[in-house]
Amino acid sequence: MKIIIVGAGPAGTLLACYLAGRGFRVEVYERRADPRLLDEDESRSINLGLSARGIAALTDIGLMDTLRPLTVPMRGRAIHLPGGAVPFQPYGAHEGEILHSVLRRDLITTLIDHAEAQPGVTFHFRHRLVGLDRETATARLVQEETGATSSVSGDAVIGADGAFSQVRAHMQHGLRADHHQEFLQWGYKELTIPAADDGSARTRLEALHVWPGENALIVAHPNRDNSLTGTLFLPAERFDEITAPEEFFREWFPDTLDLMPHLAKEYAEHPVGHLVSIRTSPWHHRGRVALIGDACHAVYPFYGQGMNSALEDCTVLDRCVGDHPTDLGAAFAEYQRLRKPHTDVLDELSKQNFVELRDRLRSPLHLLGKKADLLLARVLPGRWVPLYTMISHTTVPYADALARARRQDTLLRRAGVAAAVAGLAAALPAVLRAARGAGPAPRSDRTGLARLVRLAQRNTRKGEPPC
Ligand code: FAD
Repeated sequence: MKIIIVGAGPAGTLLACYLAGRGFRVEVYERRADPRLLDEDESRSINLGLSARGIAALTDIGLMDTLRPLTVPMRGRAIHLPGGAVPFQPYGAHEGEILHSVLRRDLITTLIDHAEAQPGVTFHFRHRLVGLDRETATARLVQEETGATSSVSGDAVIGADGAFSQVRAHMQHGLRADHHQEFLQWGYKELTIPAADDGSARTRLEALHVWPGENALIVAHPNRDNSLTGTLFLPAERFDEITAPEEFFREWFPDTLDLMPHLAKEYAEHPVGHLVSIRTSPWHHRGRVALIGDACHAVYPFYGQGMNSALEDCTVLDRCVGDHPTDLGAAFAEYQRLRKPHTDVLDELSKQNFVELRDRLRSPLHLLGKKADLLLARVLPGRWVPLYTMISHTTVPYADALARARRQDTLLRRAGVAAAVAGLAAALPAVLRAARGAGPAPRSDRTGLARLVRLAQRNTRKGEPPC
């Protein structure tokens, strides 16, 4: 069988590896140039946080060991507060619960090399899909340099062509399709924190740096050359209003001025990017067309899961194809059935995390809550798993992770109520004795609360289903 993949981003390139492993012939068409042929400047690349789901997929095809040296570990968030304090919030309660910062270019070129090394895989760069016959799996393409058009047919076409997927548009055209597209009112611009003159990092390297704020937000990922790539998020209309970026930064993020010596130039030159969230259905058509990655579920980047979920899609689709090797229609239907409920939940979580990064990260109460979450994870290993941990450091499906986090919260509230009642019960004899003018309680009564809390904990452990 021959599969045509449109788009050589993280999803398209990984899927090419998977399908080649199953013996398919794979042709990948990508509108951009081959990233391996561009020099460093031409292929300026964003960096992305790779976490457990992406790592599991890359491990599945045997590529994680090749990729790991190209990444920088991020052990937690360094949160830059207005007073100059930079508290560090670890990403997990346990060793190894970390993220990896990787340049998109490094990830994609590694995947392309790996896919091309397998028999039956061909990449065609500078080819843009402009039309699709969804009944015959025939793609119409334009060669970007010459403008020449051509048609190619396969057993199926997979749209891995991102949030504004043309495959999706042609596949759903005229069908009873649902489509929900939402632009965030905030846009983004990339700004660099270069390495210092002596080549060292200007700030702690192995962390995701966050400058939270209600009016503006900066997030910075580390690079292997000791620089960091910062992303400034602002209400979209503000970008043009800020004519003196250094003044703006002095007011809101004073400690960035030393870190970003090229701020004014980059602010003027770098384009504003926009953030879109997409939910759509169907994801496939009669075994002839299917969608993968951002093409079927683009999310805001604030949970760092867009690429990771796109890579995880490939694993799920590969298994569905393995379960229905001669019936792509059944494989595609199974893939959407298994996957969509979870990516819908990810969409919600990604929206909520924008609010967390922007509004809550500065709150001491919130930071305390996060510490308590990690503490519980340490004292109740395997029984208390913070939501962030389940999303970023496990492959528990997104909706299952959220359901479990909600159960944990309910249990915690119940345990809190039980502890409060126990506290009252323990304090009551002392209060009564004080009212009667008697002396302090005997020691056994003073430890009553501790015993009741332990009892509540034991009951909680009995009630809580295993991870
Ligand atoms: P894309 O990466 O969009 O790739 C689609 C490919 O298709 C492109 O190469 C494009 O050129 C090609 N294409 C498009 N149209 C056509 C056509 N008509 N014909 C041929 N080719 C076509 N995710 C994370 O997991 N972690 C992060 O830390 C993270 N940070 C992010 C930060 C920002 C600022 C943004 C905007 C996103 C971030 N993401 C992150 C999300 C992540 O970038 C995407 O989810 C991921 O790239 C999706 O991969 P994809 O292969 O589905 O689509």
